[in-house]
Amino acid sequence: MDEPVESTAHPKSVIEVRGFQKSYDGTVAVAGIDLDLAAGQILGLVGPNGAGKTTTLRAICGIIPPTRGRLLVAGHSIADDPVNAKRRLAYVPDDPRLFDTLTVCEHLEFMASAYNVPDLAMLGPTLLDQFELTPKRDTLAQELSRGMRQKVAICCAFLHDPLAILLDEPLTGLDPRGIREMKDAIRRRAEAGAGVIISSHLLSIVEDLCTHLFVLHRGRRVFTGPMHEARAMLGESAAGLSLEEIFFRLTEGEPPVVDGADGAPLVTEPGDGPPPPGAGARAP
Ligand code: ATP
Repeated sequence: MDEPVESTAHPKSVIEVRGFQKSYDGTVAVAGIDLDLAAGQILGLVGPNGAGKTTTLRAICGIIPPTRGRLLVAGHSIADDPVNAKRRLAYVPDDPRLFDTLTVCEHLEFMASAYNVPDLAMLGPTLLDQFELTPKRDTLAQELSRGMRQKVAICCAFLHDPLAILLDEPLTGLDPRGIREMKDAIRRRAEAGAGVIISSHLLSIVEDLCTHLFVLHRGRRVFTGPMHEARAMLGESAAGLSLEEIFFRLTEGEPPVVDGADGAPLVTEPGDGPPPPGAGARAP
């Protein structure tokens, strides 16, 4: 299938997830969520350990099949049209795997060949320079530090100019300069029209970087919307709260059960229905 399937989301939708459910051996990890990411947005995907964040990212990328639901990248179904979907996608997991016996440059050459990137000669040095990897260009991956390996994975992910960028804990292992470079690079990609999802427990960085927020709690969506609307949803008492405090309010107690099985949205768009349990309560 070459043509994108008809999308019900915003025309500039980069990622559209409808009724995504994932069960492992009968245990529900993600209970039927909708998620939208538009061009230019940086979406913070947050939630406690085991909330279903990595499961969601891996399903969007086609690494694991959904139990139910529809996942589109730039209008292409990851299940039915995986090549066109993956062409527009980059995913950097929290423990990126490199090829131990390839050098930094050879990683970029490999990715350029896999994604048919024509201008590696120009893009490669620019990326290496941006992430201060130029002195390591001929170093084997197995001889790189953890932070450097993370940067190589990011360079490989950015090389084919993806429209959808999924990053699982992208700042882990980076030094302060690396964190600043990474944040700048993410902002530039979004300004250039990419949509970015960042899954992270570093809430201060999510707050600093993200335009939108998606909070998962025990496989259920407890908030999605622009960052400032999370405060609005929690009411006047949330004015001025940090994202960390908002996070605690949204993820304490049981998430509301609306259905969880048939793919309908579970909870709440801002201003839509009652606040979740814990809204208005004190953060621990
Ligand atoms: P963390 O913040 O700890 O990384 P997460 O939000 O990314 O957590 P997931 O890794 O998506 O959470 O896991 C969601 C649930 O699915 C957890 O209960 C986890 O134990 C379960 N799970 C994840 N992968 C598998 C698997 N391969 N087999 C069985 N259960 C799994």
